[in-house]
Amino acid sequence: MSTPATSHVDPNFIPIFGESLEMLRKVLLTEKAQPLIVSGSGTLGWDMMCNLIEPGDNVLVLNTGYFGDKFGECLEVYGANVTHLRAPIGSRPDRGAVREALASATKPYKLVVITHVDTSTGVLSNVRSIAEVVHEKSPSTLVVVDGVCSVGSEEIRFDQWGLDIVLTASQKALGCPPGLAILMVSQKALGVFNNRKTNVPSYYASWAKWLPIMQAYESRKGSYFATPAVQLIYALHTSLRQILTSGTMEQRFAAHLGASRGFKQKIRDLGLRQLPESDEFAANGMTAIWLPEGISVPDLLAALAKRGVQIAGGLHVDVATKYFRIGHMGISVTRKHLDVVYDALSAGLTELGYKH
Ligand SMILES: *Cc1c(COP(=O)(O)O)cnc(C)c1O
Repeated sequence: MSTPATSHVDPNFIPIFGESLEMLRKVLLTEKAQPLIVSGSGTLGWDMMCNLIEPGDNVLVLNTGYFGDKFGECLEVYGANVTHLRAPIGSRPDRGAVREALASATKPYKLVVITHVDTSTGVLSNVRSIAEVVHEKSPSTLVVVDGVCSVGSEEIRFDQWGLDIVLTASQKALGCPPGLAILMVSQKALGVFNNRKTNVPSYYASWAKWLPIMQAYESRKGSYFATPAVQLIYALHTSLRQILTSGTMEQRFAAHLGASRGFKQKIRDLGLRQLPESDEFAANGMTAIWLPEGISVPDLLAALAKRGVQIAGGLHVDVATKYFRIGHMGISVTRKHLDVVYDALSAGLTELGYKH
């Protein structure tokens, strides 16, 4: 971020943007999908689905918490008929329920939306398995993955799993400051976009505006639609290069899984319960933990802050005051911050009177 203010068509910047697009394909394990990097937060990725939605289209949201509710709310703005397939807190819709929902649709769903990790509950969806069911039961349906809290920390194989959209943001497991919305779009999704009957109901979010820009930078030419966040793209370039040079993606997935399983076991040993029903249902980039009786979120956050550790309170509206969340993605995993966090948590709980 501490690069001097630079023009978006500076000859030094053009390859930085182009290489960032190419590296995103490597991180998501795809050969031919189209990456987009646009200034905005992850939420802009939801709005970008307006390029695929036309009024009256049916969308199935596999809802595992707060972010499923909000993604659905965003799609309704663009005229989608949204059906939520909800799971109780800590669980996720299974293949049978998805198969049934697809079979009972009066017209095929245009999109099935999966929140890969719902950051409000820490629940991990099985994207590979759900995508398989969608391909089998409803081949025209596009598989859309909200990977804001999973790209960079959870296994994602864009081509092998037949995904159509993975959207994410710069600031979570990609380990970069906030401010960039990032999308990967399949050729199939581009076909659906190209065959729209109605105009895209957005100016800034329109793929028609952004696709030529991405293509220009990838062929190492400067171009302009709206000014990109040059410094953020420098930062993203650094993050992506670090990810890709520190080992294979397989090694990165395994490092997150290993750190997460180890941490979750220590949480159980401390006598605490987690929101996800099992490790299989639990994110590898975060842990969501029920508070012990008599301890409040503000007290726990303060006890950890005093020890130099920042964690988050609850987010799911039904139970927000009853649990807390710990993020462990990117350098938190590779630099072993989790040991420091565990020690602070254990000491903080003891200070607040917790006994187990
Ligand atoms: C954080 C998050 C978002 C929203 O991203 P912003 O960058 O805050 O706009 C969307 N979905 C999930 C799963 C998230 O964790």
